[in-house]
Amino acid sequence: MAKEPKLKKIICPRCRGNGFFKVKESVERQVDKVVQCPMCNSQGEVDETKDSSIIMDADGLHRMH
Ligand SMILES: [Zn+2]
Repeated sequence: MAKEPKLKKIICPRCRGNGFFKVKESVERQVDKVVQCPMCNSQGEVDETKDSSIIMDADGLHRMH
């Protein structure tokens, strides 16, 4: 029996779990603007499987050619 793939939640690296982050409105106007995080849909967490590029081998297995 194969293991059931469980969706593991990880802290969103873009907003660091806040669900939003601040950006400067423009170069001339250095005003902090709060934007909702599109990466995690303001959840602060993302499914680990969605970002397999960040975590390459969760099991510690390395593919050899
Ligand atoms: Zn986020």
